[in-house]
Amino acid sequence: MKLVKTISEVRAEVGRARSSGRSIGLVPTMGFLHEGHLSLADRCCELAGYVVMSIYVNPLQFGPSEDFDEYPRALERDLALAEERGVDLVFAPADRELYPTELTVTVAPRRLADRLCGLSRPGHFEGVLTVVGKLFGIVQPDLAVFGQKDFQQAVLIQKMVIDLDMPVRVEVAPTVREADGIAMSSRNEYLSADERRRALSISRGLAGALRSFRSGERDAAMIGRGVLQTMEEAGGVDVEYVEVVSADDLEPVQQADEETVVVVAARVGTTRLIDNARLGAPDPGLARLL
Ligand code: AMP
Repeated sequence: MKLVKTISEVRAEVGRARSSGRSIGLVPTMGFLHEGHLSLADRCCELAGYVVMSIYVNPLQFGPSEDFDEYPRALERDLALAEERGVDLVFAPADRELYPTELTVTVAPRRLADRLCGLSRPGHFEGVLTVVGKLFGIVQPDLAVFGQKDFQQAVLIQKMVIDLDMPVRVEVAPTVREADGIAMSSRNEYLSADERRRALSISRGLAGALRSFRSGERDAAMIGRGVLQTMEEAGGVDVEYVEVVSADDLEPVQQADEETVVVVAARVGTTRLIDNARLGAPDPGLARLL
């Protein structure tokens, strides 16, 4: 595995791999890798002949009062993990490499980014799409893998490649969970033992939604209410939203079906956590809680 820090080195390495006939896969991350990220690398290795992972904490997607400075970083450890999982190239640029001058042009999402996480994080998805657009321009991957954990992000990226005719196949991989059900996240690091115990109500609530859907409940409001109740009962969980939406356009639905997703955001202490469950898809990590 090779580590590079400049765009020209990425282009040279990827160019060599491409001319040897390998397809190029990309896994964008902000590092502090856990099994969730590594499962995306595994998927990418299955689908592409040459796997690039970017590790970059993108300032553009953090609001002024968010955790950009505190965001955990551990490049040496990340490199060892990425290598173990078959990544061929890690791209870990400095800020001045990606943003040498103030941007004149960004990728600005429309309405779909104004709801859910977009409400409490104005500008966040514009920052995400802009850096992902840049990474697509730098690596020119045939395929890129994202996690379902960040559901709104995954949908927006799928819409971006369609709307902007980017020749990249976007693959969305399932959420990897800890044994107790909590979705893996670099931000779980911030939780105290007590907060973490309370945070488990998020995955417990989502497991409850799956249970009620499987036993025949189709009333979206009822399903959402159950999740909210579980989270509120835990105490110390400040719910930002619980919504029952269509997987395609994130619009709220009244009747749940196989294409419905329950999306959740909450603050536990100062840590903001998100999670979701597709009602029609298997989620072994949630099924374990049933
Ligand atoms: P991040 O480093 O948080 O920007 O995440 C990088 C990629 O990993 C994104 O596509 C995330 O959706 C994905 N990811 C984060 N957590 C998980 C998880 N628990 N399971 C699967 N994918 C994840």
